[in-house]
Amino acid sequence: MTVTDLPEGVEPSPLMQLLIGRNEPDLRTERGVECPGDLPSPSDPDLVERARAAKAALGEQVFVLGHHYQRDEVIQFADVTGDSFKLAQQAAARPESPYVVFCGVHFMAESADILTAGHQQVVLPDLAAGCSMADMAAAGQVEDCWDALVDAGVADGVVPVSYMNSSADIKAFTGRHGGTICTSSNAKASLEWAFGKGEKVLFLPDQHLGRNTAVLQLGMSLDHCVLWDPHKPQGGLTTQQLRDARVILWRGHCSVHGRFSLDSVHEVRERIPGVNVLVHPECKHEVVTAADHVGSTEVIIQTLDAAPTGSAWALGTELNLVKRLAAQHADKQVVFLDRTVCFCSTMNRIDLPHLVWSLESLVEGRVVNRIQVDDDTAHWAKVALDQMLALPSSKAQKD
Ligand code: SF4
Repeated sequence: MTVTDLPEGVEPSPLMQLLIGRNEPDLRTERGVECPGDLPSPSDPDLVERARAAKAALGEQVFVLGHHYQRDEVIQFADVTGDSFKLAQQAAARPESPYVVFCGVHFMAESADILTAGHQQVVLPDLAAGCSMADMAAAGQVEDCWDALVDAGVADGVVPVSYMNSSADIKAFTGRHGGTICTSSNAKASLEWAFGKGEKVLFLPDQHLGRNTAVLQLGMSLDHCVLWDPHKPQGGLTTQQLRDARVILWRGHCSVHGRFSLDSVHEVRERIPGVNVLVHPECKHEVVTAADHVGSTEVIIQTLDAAPTGSAWALGTELNLVKRLAAQHADKQVVFLDRTVCFCSTMNRIDLPHLVWSLESLVEGRVVNRIQVDDDTAHWAKVALDQMLALPSSKAQKD
């Protein structure tokens, strides 16, 4: 069975996605790209040794980056682990390595290609490792939205703010229209900067991060925010709604963090009295409001590091990271916020066979699955990324 066999309207659960098979692209959440190449068998007992040998043979020639949501079998080979922004920065800080193997998802590899030097080549071990949130904002849809804002007579006062979790095309759109990229750590500073420049913000593509930041950190009301649905004429909004809005949120979300519900919070509080609920700001507004703490991936890691022995934590973020943190903090009770499995299916596509294949190909002198952003797109995307770096809060950047 594949996810495309599911009845109309039935969403595959993350567990179902995992069981369906890793070599089948998930056309609802992935880029629909088959990964070419003669991959080693997942049952090859020598995979770990092969990865180790290929990496040793490449030495300083290769720099392996691993996002926090990657599998343990992959993360063990990362030279650096981190969030998407930290990893892109790290890639740029290692110009002596001509090959950057990015164990993460497509938009992250694009950002690494934009920020690294021209002689560096960025490899994504599985091209099907997309991001459902990034794919919810296509360049043509965003251009249509902007045209509607022009027609409504409001575009001159609109500043785009795009989350790091967006394609290079959307980052370039943002740069062309005088906006900035943001991360979950500097979303507040980004919105404040944007409101110093214009009257309204077009926030792409994560509605939850945009809404949570505007309401909980900038003190706006929910009525200040409207939701642009790219699948409806004029986003499903009237011209008056566009004129009255302060924040125009794109109808996008993370399929992992968007699964947590208010029931998950209530259930874990009943199950573990005194538990601290800590969630990522990509979660729904009602979940973030009901939680005790909200923070980016790096903040979640730092909070657990600083937590006292014996404390209990329910984490609303990706399951690979939660499992790793639970193992690292055996003196604390660390549980997943939801009772159902919640891996990021696209992050999970990068597995040991794909990593071995990409590293061994480099040893043989073949660069496979190179991610390359065209010059014009890269230029404007970098304008938006540089604007983010110029924000005061970007000195200690986290995503
Ligand atoms: S966790 Fe969410 S935002 Fe991150 S890569 Fe997966 S789908 Fe995209």
